[in-house]
Amino acid sequence: MEQFWKDKSLKQLTFDQWESLCDGCALCCLHKLEDEDTGEIYYTQVGCQLLDIDTCACKNYSNRTAQIPSCLQLTIDKTMMNMLPKTCAYRLLFEGKELPDWHHLVCGDKNRVHEEKISCRGKAIDEDMVDMDEIEDYVIYLLN
Ligand code: SF4
Ligand code: SF4
Repeated sequence: MEQFWKDKSLKQLTFDQWESLCDGCALCCLHKLEDEDTGEIYYTQVGCQLLDIDTCACKNYSNRTAQIPSCLQLTIDKTMMNMLPKTCAYRLLFEGKELPDWHHLVCGDKNRVHEEKISCRGKAIDEDMVDMDEIEDYVIYLLN
C-alpha cells in the first residue's frame, strides 16, 4: 500500500487521503470542557448528539456542521491539533510522529482501533442520558 502520509505533508494530501487518515476513534466527538484559566482541554464521556456510541460513527456526517455547529472542522494549526487526542492520526503527523501499529492504514484492519480500546466504544455515553448541567461529572482524561 502507498504510504502517502510518509511522503506528503498534511497540506499536500488529497481529499480522499485526508479523509482516510481518520482512524474512526470518534474521541473528537466527545464533549470537551476548557479550563478558562489554563486553556487546558478536558474530554468527557458524553458523546455529541449525532454520535452512534456503538459504531463510533456520525449519524449525519455529510451534513454534520449544519446540524452541530460546534462539530470540529479540522484545520492544520497547533491550536486545533491540541484539541485532538494524542492518538489522533492528524495530530500525530502534525507533530512529526509515526502512525501507530493499530492504525488501519498500517495494519489494514479498521477494527483494531476498537480492539485496542483506543476508540470511544465502551467509554462514550449518549448525550440524551446526561444532565448537561452536570457534564463536569463526566470528565475523563483519556490519553491526553
Ligand atoms: S480524533 Fe482524529 S482520528 Fe479520531 S475520529 Fe477524530 S479526527 Fe478521526
Ligand atoms: S456532528 Fe458528527 S462528526 Fe461532528 S462531533 Fe458530532 S458525531 Fe462527531
